[in-house]
Amino acid sequence: MMIANSVLRGKIYRLLQFIVVVCALIIPFIKTSNGNSLFRFDVSTLQLYAFNTVVSFASFFSAFIAILLFTFLFVFTTQLLGRVWCGWLCPQSFFSIRIESYSKKIKNKTMRKVAAVLLAFVFALVLTLNWMMYFVSPYDFISSLKSSSTMVTIGVVLFLFIFVDFVLVRFKWCKYVCPYSKFQVVMTDDDTLYVGMIPGKEKECIDCKACIRVCPTHIDPRKNPDADCIYCETCVTACNQVFQKKDHHEGILGYVWGKGNKFNFKRPNLIVTFSVSIVLFIILIYSIISTSEPFIIKVDDNVKSLGNGVYTVKVEMKSNLEKAVRVHFSNPDNVAEVSPAGVRVFIKEKVESTLTINTLKEIPNGKVKIQAVYDRKKDPIVFEVNLK
Ligand code: SF4
Ligand code: SF4
Repeated sequence: MMIANSVLRGKIYRLLQFIVVVCALIIPFIKTSNGNSLFRFDVSTLQLYAFNTVVSFASFFSAFIAILLFTFLFVFTTQLLGRVWCGWLCPQSFFSIRIESYSKKIKNKTMRKVAAVLLAFVFALVLTLNWMMYFVSPYDFISSLKSSSTMVTIGVVLFLFIFVDFVLVRFKWCKYVCPYSKFQVVMTDDDTLYVGMIPGKEKECIDCKACIRVCPTHIDPRKNPDADCIYCETCVTACNQVFQKKDHHEGILGYVWGKGNKFNFKRPNLIVTFSVSIVLFIILIYSIISTSEPFIIKVDDNVKSLGNGVYTVKVEMKSNLEKAVRVHFSNPDNVAEVSPAGVRVFIKEKVESTLTINTLKEIPNGKVKIQAVYDRKKDPIVFEVNLK
């Protein structure tokens, strides 16, 4: 039963990691009912799309509070659970473990190295594209790359950085470079969770050193807590296997709640970071609600050409305002005429309208800027329509 528990925990651990990776990969592609990504920070508009809410980070205050909250949650998690991020969620350790474990299955030494490089290439490419899609819509990704050499440069540099890391560095990054690992040394205390020898089991160790041989950061798990441990649980699995063969008994390594192996929440540092996080969370929610976009315009990707430089495109307007407004459309560059010039939108109403764009001259990149003014005291909403 004990072994079954341990094996089950290992399976849940791996399943959770895969779920996190799959979620991270598909989140930029998921659209909410307002047509925006489920979660993405759009660099072109400086807006955060999060669960049907649009937060304009022109609101510096919200951005500042969000960064503060993130920092405090980071500290709180480390104080309580140590480097659990490294083993459970960090893409660096997740993919490094996969590269090592998958390539190790190949017996031929040269082929093993080739497989590791190929895996590093594929994982680096997936991670680079995934990371960039949190800043640029995946549905405009190719056109954004074509029109921005800066984005291409960022992508190439990022890819090369991750690729070299996966080929040459891997766990050396966790041990010697990662800034988070250095910070966590000062954040943890005597009650922080760690992976190591379960207190009271020391005498059962047969000194087979299986746990040391599998440790990616080359430490002795029996001597934990060690700042270099990344909570990957590889040593726990190895020790379980040793004892499973020996006497069908669970291994002697596992998660330990600090030196006393007792969960203790009544710690001043933990209480302070937890309380500050709660206060910051409330302030952030309040600032998001009070500064979230009062008027949202979603533009259909499907632009129809009527010939002679005339195009139509559907736009959907959603008002969160407590008053009816008339939205005025125009082209600020004077390369096209837009009609209708005004559309009425009532209180908290959603309206769909078809805009006709009559181009006045040749537009080389095919993109026409449209400006929508719903309130003369507010900045206009500016969006682009791709006529190609
Ligand atoms: S694998 Fe288990 S039994 Fe073997 S040395 Fe490590 S802790 Fe001891
Ligand atoms: S000590 Fe265990 S959990 Fe820590 S890094 Fe080594 S193998 Fe992973």
